[in-house]
Parts: sequence; structure tokens; C-alpha cells
Amino acid sequence: MEITLTINYMLTYNELIELREKLADGEIALERAKELYWDDWKRAWHTKDWKERRGKVIKDKCEICGSKETLTLQHLSHPQEYVEYEREVTKKYTQSFIGSNTIIDKHEFTEYVIRDYDYVPVPLCPNCNGRNPNKRMRKTPQYLCTECRHEFDEPIYKTIDELITTFYKNDEAIEVRDKCFVSKKWGNKYHLSSVKYWLQREKAKTKDSEAIGKEAFLLFLDDNIKYLSFDDTITACKKCAFYSDKMNMELCPKCKEYYKGIQYSTCIQCLPEEKRKEVLEMIEFGKQMHAIDKMLGID
Ligand SMILES: [Zn+2]
Ligand SMILES: [Zn+2]
Ligand SMILES: [Zn+2]
Repeated sequence: MEITLTINYMLTYNELIELREKLADGEIALERAKELYWDDWKRAWHTKDWKERRGKVIKDKCEICGSKETLTLQHLSHPQEYVEYEREVTKKYTQSFIGSNTIIDKHEFTEYVIRDYDYVPVPLCPNCNGRNPNKRMRKTPQYLCTECRHEFDEPIYKTIDELITTFYKNDEAIEVRDKCFVSKKWGNKYHLSSVKYWLQREKAKTKDSEAIGKEAFLLFLDDNIKYLSFDDTITACKKCAFYSDKMNMELCPKCKEYYKGIQYSTCIQCLPEEKRKEVLEMIEFGKQMHAIDKMLGID
């Protein structure tokens, strides 16, 4: 069994390196490079090239236990999705946009807030402006301010404009720290500082879209080239591959017979007598609890 990835390679290893160089040197445009990479991406990734090079790299026995049975080539790292790189690079460009201290006009900021967010205002006491008065279920007037003890039916609210004016004077003022802006696109709640960050990110993205795309795609290609180079691989038998991949376990270095969780130094059998008894009792206890849960229908 090969540990398969859902990535499909249409390009051979050398073609991929060539593509990367051409893109880096500006010999081909980003759009064209992406096309070349993804055009035919549904074609099987077990290309002849891949199989031939794999044949040269794979060892004749498992590098973990020495078995010669059903050997597979195990990748110790996998390339990230392209969108992950785009996210990372966009973050970097956003930071440098923020670092450039480009002033965002208050009017533009207000328009952005109104366009992309719903405002859910915080209720305030009409007497002292106290925040979050108690809302009572049975009593009238409905509200009681815990700060000035004023009772009232209608709280007051700050307008978006008032909040933004305060924010422009002091972006850490207590009135502007509430997450009372709900993104129309994502449904998440943000305070004005985060909203400002998203606008800065949007502006950085628009300003440097070509550079961001190119940098992200180059990183993506680097990672795929590394993956196809088989640099970060070991030869493993079917059993070792299964334990390391699915169970996060590896062969115990002491007995070289049983597997252990990678966070432990040895397998249970190789623990000192006292410790082993303790662990086995814990496992037994866990099993019993599990059985009780099952019986009670919790599990
Ligand atoms: Zn093995
Ligand atoms: Zn009050
Ligand atoms: Zn052991």
C-alpha cells in the first residue's frame, strides 16, 4: 500500500524545477505558470517519471524495523495547499502595509464598516452612560444601571459615527473595544481594531496582488519540488508505515518489537515494573469507565 496524497502531478520533477526558475526570472507570467501547473491536474500523479525516481530512492528494507515486507516510501512532511501560502504571504504584506503608516481616511473607513459589517450596539445607561445595564425579565422599568442605580426602559446607543470618531482619537478607548461589528461575509464579531486590520489587509492585497501571488506560488513550487525530490522520506514496511501514519506511533527503541506513542520514551512492556503496573491499571480503569459509559448510553 502506497501512502497516497490527493495531489496530482502532471509535471515531472525537472519540468517543475524549470517552471519555478522561469517564474522566478520573470520569463513567464504568474497566470501562465499557474495554468501550466493546474491545467491537467486531474491526471494521475503516478507518472512514469515519479515511479522511476522512486525506484532509485527506496531502500531494500524497512529503515525502522528492518523488515523486507511490502516496502513503501514514507514522506515525513507534506506540502501545504496553495491557499495556505497565499494566506501567509498576504499576512506579511499586510504587516508591511501597516508598517508603512499609510493613513486610512476616516470617511473611507466608515464606508467600509457600513458596507461589510452589521453593527450590534452595546446598550448604555441614559443617565450616566454606564455600560451593559441589567436587563430584568419581570420588573419595569426593564433596565437597571448597576453604576448609578438609574431605572429606565430605553437604553441609549452610540452611533457608528460616534464610535469611529472615538476610535480615531484613541483606538484603545474602552468604548471601542466591544466586538459589536459582525462581518456580513463571515458572520464573525470584531472590534474596530480588527475591522481596521481587515481593511488594511484588503488594501495591501489590492496594491500588491501580483507580487503576493508570485511569492506564494514560488513557495508552493519549492515545497512541491522538495516533496518530489524524496529528500524527506524514509523506507518503511507496511506495518511501520501504518503505525507512524495513522497512530502516531513508532517502534520502541528498547525492545525493537512493540510500538509506542511518539511522546513516550519506550513501549509499555519496556517500562520499569512499578511504572508498567501503574499504566496497565490505568488502561484497565479506562476500559471499565468506557464500558460503563456505553451501558449508560453516554458514549
Ligand atoms: Zn518496519
Ligand atoms: Zn447609569
Ligand atoms: Zn519496548
